[in-house]
Amino acid sequence: MISLILLAGGTGSRMGAVHPKQFLLLGGQPVALHSFNLFMEIPEIGEIIVVCDPAYQNIFHSSSKPLFFAPPGKRRQDSVYNGLQQCSPHAELIVVHDSARPFLEKKDLLNLLEAASRVGAATLATPITSTIKQGNAEKRVEKTVDRSQLWEIQTPQAIRADWIREGFQRVHQKNLQVTDDVSIVESMGHPVELVAGSAQNYKLTTPFDFTIAQTLLNSHASL
Ligand code: C5P
Repeated sequence: MISLILLAGGTGSRMGAVHPKQFLLLGGQPVALHSFNLFMEIPEIGEIIVVCDPAYQNIFHSSSKPLFFAPPGKRRQDSVYNGLQQCSPHAELIVVHDSARPFLEKKDLLNLLEAASRVGAATLATPITSTIKQGNAEKRVEKTVDRSQLWEIQTPQAIRADWIREGFQRVHQKNLQVTDDVSIVESMGHPVELVAGSAQNYKLTTPFDFTIAQTLLNSHASL
Protein backbone atom coordinates (compact mmCIF):
# COMPACT_ATOMS: atom_id res chain seq x y z
CA MET A 1 0.00 0.00 0.00
CA ILE A 2 1.16 3.53 -0.75
CA SER A 3 0.62 6.43 1.68
CA LEU A 4 0.75 9.98 0.41
CA ILE A 5 1.84 12.85 2.66
CA LEU A 6 0.72 16.19 1.22
CA LEU A 7 2.66 19.03 2.82
CA ALA A 8 0.57 22.15 3.27
CA GLY A 9 1.93 23.34 6.60
CA GLY A 10 4.18 26.21 5.52
CA THR A 11 3.42 29.86 6.16
CA GLY A 12 4.61 30.97 2.70
CA SER A 13 5.99 34.27 4.00
CA ARG A 14 7.94 34.92 0.76
CA MET A 15 4.64 35.25 -1.11
CA GLY A 16 3.60 38.18 1.09
CA ALA A 17 -0.12 37.21 0.94
CA VAL A 18 -2.79 36.93 3.67
CA HIS A 19 -3.13 33.14 3.31
CA PRO A 20 -0.21 30.72 2.91
CA LYS A 21 0.61 30.25 -0.79
CA GLN A 22 -0.80 26.70 -0.91
CA PHE A 23 -4.25 28.07 -0.06
CA LEU A 24 -4.37 30.98 -2.53
CA LEU A 25 -6.94 30.50 -5.27
CA LEU A 26 -5.57 29.34 -8.61
CA GLY A 27 -8.12 28.69 -11.35
CA GLY A 28 -10.94 28.91 -8.79
CA GLN A 29 -9.53 26.42 -6.28
CA PRO A 30 -6.81 26.49 -3.62
CA VAL A 31 -3.34 25.66 -4.95
CA ALA A 32 -3.11 22.58 -2.69
CA LEU A 33 -6.24 21.00 -4.20
CA HIS A 34 -4.68 20.79 -7.67
CA SER A 35 -2.28 18.00 -6.68
CA PHE A 36 -4.65 16.59 -4.00
CA ASN A 37 -7.26 15.88 -6.71
CA LEU A 38 -4.66 14.13 -8.87
CA PHE A 39 -3.58 11.88 -5.96
CA MET A 40 -7.25 11.05 -5.35
CA GLU A 41 -7.44 9.60 -8.88
CA ILE A 42 -4.56 7.12 -8.40
CA PRO A 43 -5.82 3.70 -7.22
CA GLU A 44 -2.37 2.63 -5.95
CA ILE A 45 -2.48 5.42 -3.35
CA GLY A 46 -4.31 3.89 -0.40
CA GLU A 47 -4.50 6.87 1.97
CA ILE A 48 -3.74 10.58 2.08
CA ILE A 49 -2.31 12.45 5.04
CA VAL A 50 -2.54 16.23 4.73
CA VAL A 51 -0.18 18.21 6.94
CA CYS A 52 -1.79 21.58 7.53
CA ASP A 53 -2.97 24.07 10.11
CA PRO A 54 -6.34 22.82 11.48
CA ALA A 55 -7.97 26.04 10.20
CA TYR A 56 -7.52 24.81 6.61
CA GLN A 57 -8.55 21.15 7.04
CA ASN A 58 -12.09 21.78 5.75
CA ILE A 59 -10.70 22.48 2.26
CA PHE A 60 -9.90 18.78 1.78
CA HIS A 61 -12.62 16.16 1.23
CA SER A 62 -12.42 12.54 0.22
CA SER A 63 -15.14 10.12 -0.75
CA SER A 64 -12.85 7.46 -2.15
CA LYS A 65 -9.82 7.08 0.18
CA PRO A 66 -9.04 7.37 3.87
CA LEU A 67 -7.99 10.95 4.60
CA PHE A 68 -6.09 11.97 7.75
CA PHE A 69 -4.54 15.18 9.01
CA ALA A 70 -1.34 15.98 10.87
CA PRO A 71 -0.21 19.27 12.42
CA PRO A 72 2.61 21.23 10.78
CA GLY A 73 6.04 21.19 12.36
CA LYS A 74 8.49 24.06 12.68
CA ARG A 75 10.60 23.02 9.68
CA ARG A 76 9.51 21.16 6.55
CA GLN A 77 11.24 17.99 7.79
CA ASP A 78 9.25 18.20 11.07
CA SER A 79 6.02 18.38 9.06
CA VAL A 80 7.06 15.27 7.09
CA TYR A 81 7.78 13.49 10.37
CA ASN A 82 4.36 14.47 11.79
CA GLY A 83 2.72 13.16 8.61
CA LEU A 84 4.69 9.92 8.84
CA GLN A 85 3.27 9.31 12.33
CA GLN A 86 -0.24 9.17 10.79
CA CYS A 87 0.70 6.72 8.00
CA SER A 88 -0.64 3.19 8.21
CA PRO A 89 1.81 0.60 9.60
CA HIS A 90 0.90 -1.40 6.46
CA ALA A 91 2.30 1.26 4.10
CA GLU A 92 5.14 -0.07 1.98
CA LEU A 93 5.92 3.16 0.16
CA ILE A 94 5.64 6.73 1.46
CA VAL A 95 5.21 9.50 -1.11
CA VAL A 96 5.81 13.10 -0.03
CA HIS A 97 4.64 16.07 -2.10
CA ASP A 98 4.86 19.86 -1.63
CA SER A 99 1.34 21.15 -2.12
CA ALA A 100 2.92 24.36 -3.45
CA ARG A 101 3.59 22.43 -6.71
CA PRO A 102 0.15 22.47 -8.38
CA PHE A 103 1.21 21.33 -11.87
CA LEU A 104 2.26 17.75 -11.14
CA GLU A 105 1.36 15.55 -14.13
CA LYS A 106 -0.09 12.06 -13.85
CA LYS A 107 2.46 10.46 -16.19
CA ASP A 108 5.36 11.80 -14.10
CA LEU A 109 3.73 10.59 -10.88
CA LEU A 110 3.25 7.10 -12.34
CA ASN A 111 6.88 7.00 -13.55
CA LEU A 112 8.00 7.99 -10.05
CA LEU A 113 5.92 5.26 -8.38
CA GLU A 114 7.29 2.65 -10.79
CA ALA A 115 10.92 3.69 -10.12
CA ALA A 116 10.46 3.77 -6.35
CA SER A 117 8.80 0.34 -6.31
CA ARG A 118 11.75 -1.05 -8.28
CA VAL A 119 14.67 0.78 -6.56
CA GLY A 120 13.32 1.65 -3.09
CA ALA A 121 13.49 5.44 -3.44
CA ALA A 122 13.00 7.94 -6.25
CA THR A 123 12.47 11.63 -6.85
CA LEU A 124 11.22 13.71 -9.74
CA ALA A 125 13.93 16.01 -11.06
CA THR A 126 14.90 18.08 -14.10
CA PRO A 127 18.39 18.37 -15.60
CA ILE A 128 20.03 21.74 -14.87
CA THR A 129 20.11 23.95 -17.96
CA SER A 130 21.66 27.11 -16.45
CA THR A 131 25.37 27.71 -15.98
CA ILE A 132 26.19 27.21 -12.31
CA LYS A 133 29.11 28.93 -10.58
CA GLN A 134 30.44 28.53 -7.08
CA GLY A 135 31.17 31.85 -5.35
CA ASN A 136 33.05 32.75 -2.17
CA ALA A 137 32.12 35.07 0.71
CA GLU A 138 33.41 38.08 -1.30
CA LYS A 139 31.07 37.22 -4.19
CA ARG A 140 34.02 36.28 -6.38
CA VAL A 141 33.68 33.27 -8.67
CA GLU A 142 35.66 30.30 -7.39
CA LYS A 143 34.76 27.92 -10.17
CA THR A 144 32.23 26.98 -12.82
CA VAL A 145 30.56 23.73 -11.88
CA ASP A 146 30.16 20.97 -14.49
CA ARG A 147 26.39 20.96 -14.92
CA SER A 148 26.18 17.82 -17.07
CA GLN A 149 25.48 15.65 -14.03
CA LEU A 150 23.43 18.14 -12.01
CA TRP A 151 19.68 17.86 -11.44
CA GLU A 152 17.19 20.19 -9.83
CA ILE A 153 15.15 18.19 -7.35
CA GLN A 154 11.36 18.38 -7.15
CA THR A 155 8.64 16.53 -5.32
CA PRO A 156 6.95 14.08 -5.19
CA GLN A 157 9.59 11.86 -3.69
CA ALA A 158 8.77 8.23 -2.89
CA ILE A 159 10.64 6.13 -0.35
CA ARG A 160 10.25 2.65 1.12
CA ALA A 161 8.45 3.04 4.45
CA ASP A 162 11.07 1.08 6.43
CA TRP A 163 13.88 3.23 4.97
CA ILE A 164 12.26 6.57 5.78
CA ARG A 165 11.30 5.47 9.30
CA GLU A 166 14.87 4.30 9.97
CA GLY A 167 16.20 7.46 8.31
CA PHE A 168 14.24 9.70 10.63
CA GLN A 169 15.66 7.89 13.67
CA ARG A 170 19.11 8.80 12.36
CA VAL A 171 18.06 12.39 11.58
CA HIS A 172 16.86 12.80 15.16
CA GLN A 173 19.87 11.07 16.76
CA LYS A 174 22.37 13.18 14.81
CA ASN A 175 20.23 16.33 14.72
CA LEU A 176 20.50 16.55 10.92
CA GLN A 177 18.89 19.27 8.77
CA VAL A 178 17.46 18.07 5.46
CA THR A 179 15.66 20.08 2.80
CA ASP A 180 14.23 17.09 0.97
CA ASP A 181 13.19 13.58 1.86
CA VAL A 182 15.42 11.37 -0.23
CA SER A 183 18.45 13.01 1.46
CA ILE A 184 17.39 11.09 4.56
CA VAL A 185 17.92 7.73 2.88
CA GLU A 186 20.80 8.83 0.61
CA SER A 187 22.96 9.38 3.67
CA MET A 188 22.26 5.77 4.71
CA GLY A 189 23.72 4.50 1.43
CA HIS A 190 20.38 3.51 -0.11
CA PRO A 191 19.90 4.04 -3.86
CA VAL A 192 17.67 6.87 -5.08
CA GLU A 193 16.56 7.02 -8.72
CA LEU A 194 16.30 10.36 -10.53
CA VAL A 195 13.11 10.36 -12.61
CA ALA A 196 13.07 13.06 -15.29
CA GLY A 197 9.96 15.17 -14.80
CA SER A 198 8.68 18.45 -16.18
CA ALA A 199 9.73 22.05 -15.51
CA GLN A 200 6.00 22.79 -15.08
CA ASN A 201 6.12 21.04 -11.73
CA TYR A 202 7.83 24.06 -10.17
CA LYS A 203 7.23 25.26 -6.63
CA LEU A 204 5.25 28.47 -6.12
CA THR A 205 7.39 30.67 -3.90
CA THR A 206 7.15 34.31 -4.99
CA PRO A 207 4.37 36.52 -6.42
CA PHE A 208 6.15 36.16 -9.79
CA ASP A 209 5.74 32.35 -9.62
CA PHE A 210 2.04 32.89 -8.98
CA THR A 211 1.68 35.13 -12.03
CA ILE A 212 3.34 32.43 -14.16
CA ALA A 213 0.94 29.84 -12.69
CA GLN A 214 -2.10 31.88 -13.71
CA THR A 215 -0.69 32.31 -17.21
CA LEU A 216 -0.02 28.57 -17.46
CA LEU A 217 -3.57 27.74 -16.40
CA ASN A 218 -5.01 30.19 -18.92
CA SER A 219 -2.88 28.71 -21.71
CA HIS A 220 -4.10 25.18 -20.80
CA ALA A 221 -7.68 26.42 -20.80
CA SER A 222 -7.30 27.83 -24.31
CA LEU A 223 -5.79 24.64 -25.80
O1 C5P B 1 8.83 26.60 2.34
P1 C5P B 1 8.89 25.67 1.16
O2 C5P B 1 8.46 26.31 -0.11
O3 C5P B 1 10.18 24.95 1.01
O4 C5P B 1 7.81 24.56 1.48
C1 C5P B 1 7.62 23.43 0.67
C2 C5P B 1 6.33 22.73 1.08
O5 C5P B 1 6.43 22.26 2.42
C3 C5P B 1 5.09 23.65 1.01
O6 C5P B 1 4.03 22.93 0.41
C4 C5P B 1 4.84 23.99 2.47
O7 C5P B 1 3.46 24.21 2.75
C5 C5P B 1 5.35 22.75 3.20
N1 C5P B 1 5.87 23.03 4.55
C6 C5P B 1 5.28 22.38 5.64
N2 C5P B 1 5.74 22.66 6.92
C7 C5P B 1 6.73 23.53 7.13
C8 C5P B 1 7.35 24.18 6.04
C9 C5P B 1 6.90 23.92 4.75
O8 C5P B 1 4.35 21.60 5.46
N3 C5P B 1 7.13 23.77 8.38
